[in-house]
Amino acid sequence: MTTLPKTDEEWKKVLTPEQFDVLRNRGTERAFTGKFWDSHEKGSYVCAGCGLEIFSSDDKFDSGCGWPSYTQPSTKLTEIEDKSHGMVRQEVRCPRCGGHLGHVFDDGPKPTGQRYCINSASLGFKPKQP
Ligand code: FE
Repeated sequence: MTTLPKTDEEWKKVLTPEQFDVLRNRGTERAFTGKFWDSHEKGSYVCAGCGLEIFSSDDKFDSGCGWPSYTQPSTKLTEIEDKSHGMVRQEVRCPRCGGHLGHVFDDGPKPTGQRYCINSASLGFKPKQP
């Protein structure tokens, strides 16, 4: 594995402005604008910053919220309490590069009851090989 970028300047060289805003600046893309909210392809969703596999299409569901949503991650994510915008939410970050992904809520469907609400801009996609 190659060394991960460390500074904002280094990250700006490898990420698009939108990816940088979400992953490194904890931004949020507008609902129903990302490339994965309505995606139903089989495969793996990886961190757009470092390539770590974050979610499987098997755990993706249609939440109706306008962001890709999953009942569980493929690897344990870093969780941080986020008290911004007058709410208390659980932020989730990539455990390898620390990139901001989105938030996890307790109103998801079975089997986990969790809803990982994730920015498309923080993800890449690897289609399942036939
Ligand atoms: Fe990452």
